[in-house]
Amino acid sequence: MYKFLENEERTKPLKIAFDVDGTLIYKCGELEDTPRYDIIRLFHFFKDNGEDVYIWSGGGLDYAEEWASRLGLEATVVEKGCFKPDIAVDDINVDLGIINLRV
Ligand SMILES: [Mg+2]
Repeated sequence: MYKFLENEERTKPLKIAFDVDGTLIYKCGELEDTPRYDIIRLFHFFKDNGEDVYIWSGGGLDYAEEWASRLGLEATVVEKGCFKPDIAVDDINVDLGIINLRV
């Protein structure tokens, strides 16, 4: 579990946003467009713990929706950067979330 995020004031689910290119799927080399199962496990970990999971992409809403569907991930798909999640999971350094997790 992730006790470091627990506190008595936390009554709402965390909002966690996952990038697509380079994060949920590889974007270069022989593995291009294949799933990053380590990150997909992380996605399911948070979702199974009742957190609110989002998928977004610099490639736009339709692109993010297409990959959410292809990967079978149930998430709210939104425009990248349209709100500040508790955790932004991305393959590059970003300043999009309260916590920015580079993977
Ligand atoms: Mg990316």
